[in-house]
Amino acid sequence: MSKKTTHKFKAEVSQLLDILVHSLYTNKEVFLRELVSNASDALEKVRFQATSEDGKDEIPLQITIASDKDAGTITITDTGIGMTRDELMKNIGTIAHSGTAELTRMATEGKESLDALIGRFGVGFYSVYMVADEVTVTTRSAEANAKPILWTSDGKTEYKLQELDEDMPRGTRIDVKLKEDIASQFTNDAHLKMIVNKHSNFINFPILIGGEQVNTVSALWREPKFQISAEQYAEFYKFLTYDAEDPFDTLHTSVDAPVQFNALMFTPKNDNDPFGMGRENRGLDLYVRRVLIEKQNKDLLPEYLGFMKGVVDTEDLPLNISRETLQDNILMRKISSTLVKQVLGNLEKIAKDNAERYAEFWHAHGNLFKAGYMDFLNKDKFSHLVRFNTSSSEDSKGLTSFAEYIARTQEDQKEIYYAYGPSREALGLSPHLEVFRKKGIEVLYLYEAIDEFVMDALRDYDGYTIVSAEHADVSKLDVFEALEKEDKAEQLSEDQKTTLDKMLARIKDVLGDSVSEVKASQRLSDSPVCLANPDGHTTSSMDKIMRVMSKDTSIPTKVLEVNPDHALVRNMLTIYKKDENDPFIEQAARHLFESALLLEGYLTDPHALVGRVQDLLTKSSGWYVETTK
Ligand code: ADP
Repeated sequence: MSKKTTHKFKAEVSQLLDILVHSLYTNKEVFLRELVSNASDALEKVRFQATSEDGKDEIPLQITIASDKDAGTITITDTGIGMTRDELMKNIGTIAHSGTAELTRMATEGKESLDALIGRFGVGFYSVYMVADEVTVTTRSAEANAKPILWTSDGKTEYKLQELDEDMPRGTRIDVKLKEDIASQFTNDAHLKMIVNKHSNFINFPILIGGEQVNTVSALWREPKFQISAEQYAEFYKFLTYDAEDPFDTLHTSVDAPVQFNALMFTPKNDNDPFGMGRENRGLDLYVRRVLIEKQNKDLLPEYLGFMKGVVDTEDLPLNISRETLQDNILMRKISSTLVKQVLGNLEKIAKDNAERYAEFWHAHGNLFKAGYMDFLNKDKFSHLVRFNTSSSEDSKGLTSFAEYIARTQEDQKEIYYAYGPSREALGLSPHLEVFRKKGIEVLYLYEAIDEFVMDALRDYDGYTIVSAEHADVSKLDVFEALEKEDKAEQLSEDQKTTLDKMLARIKDVLGDSVSEVKASQRLSDSPVCLANPDGHTTSSMDKIMRVMSKDTSIPTKVLEVNPDHALVRNMLTIYKKDENDPFIEQAARHLFESALLLEGYLTDPHALVGRVQDLLTKSSGWYVETTK
């Protein structure tokens, strides 16, 4: 027997162990789920190797759980792939598993309770230390001539390794010395069976307790739909995802042409990945004739449908297919395009049958789903399925489809208008939308940067052009009546018009190159000015995104539109008429420009603006005191 060697855990492992050991997490039984799931993975690897190498396998693929009340131990044995000394050191001792790394990070940041996190992510092998004083792993790799290795640790700071002389069959055995206070819970066969049924019922290999198989071992997705109850689906879903809640929706299909496959897919109730961290956590499990080929395959569904969880099983792929070639496989592409159609079709059905239910889906997964604007092949279906908040909804939760928008358009309206803003309140005040508000023309409200990419990609819907309200051709809106008779400002006289032109030229002089043009506006009613993009195409928000991407921090040069009917502008006209060089004109010009920049989110240095406001307030309060005393 070789000498024992001692090794320190990597820092991140010690950190995780510390969190787990000291957690008050009461649902400690999940350690068994984790060990069984590791055993199952190890068995899948053997099966995959055996099938792809066409080898014969004599040893039955199974997991055994045994316990000893008197000794206070539980032992989990599998006949899986085992580990060599190097693999052991690499796999158990460092953190390989992304879920675990993420859990540790989130737990240390304290953003979410540990309980929620442990339940949601698989915590892997280390979870055993929630129940163990000491753990011994005895493992023999399936590689020819591999030596069995013994690994021991009390889960504090270090572990010991030792090579064994006597050979043993392929596989891994985990001996757990249970903590005294909870030993009785996990040395009771009936209780262990209950735990296995609850968390590991759908493991693809027999799990034996006391010589008896306790799990059902059925490929649920291959059974006829009518034989499966909602409870069975929910149970399978929870097994697959660790979600504590039932799925929002279940989609179980069987396809024979153009390629044969069964799929069982679920839509979770909640977005369990609100920070968008879990790209790796997406994908459907791919089986070929019930043999697991790849967990969370990334090619079956595009990323925007990444909220879907489930399995796909096909007869048509060869069992010995390598994971590397899956991506280029033509059958895989056929399966994928059929799956996408099924998922989108199912969503269309939900949307049609029950708008409220669809809204629930949208609020949970809409943000990810929107990335589907890049799926040009399914553009039509996608455009039926996107939803937006809109000026005519009651609050920021209200949703509308393009079709619903169109049904509400005014006669002769041939465009769908949208505007982007930080909030419903901000959009409600935006100068760009004044003319729309005045005429009661509905505007879709966008709050996420991606929404504009969606609009840019779609361009039209059912014969209606999708147009940014900021760039709408105002003359097209002339045909629509104002909702209320407004107190129209008095028409400008010819003389005043000439003065206006001159004053606008003066404002341009004052502002110099910071604006490309200063012109009278058609669209403003309540605001004195607004900024518009000179090319009349890129919206301000899109412009901002591009600037962030190109790290451009300069202030963009825009057109300053001035509202000739606004009281302030009329006063400026009177002042300008009396004295073209009155300093008030310059002050007002700078101020209006900077306020517009501020509204658009471009003003980086507010000093001048604040100073001017204080100066004006001081003066006006002086006049106020004088006139009212
Ligand atoms: P995860 O299983 O999520 O990768 P774990 O910490 O549970 O994370 O396990 C780390 C690695 O150790 C596994 O990926 C696997 O390679 C190896 N491993 C764990 N248990 C076994 C086992 N019973 N047989 C073979 N390998 C195992």
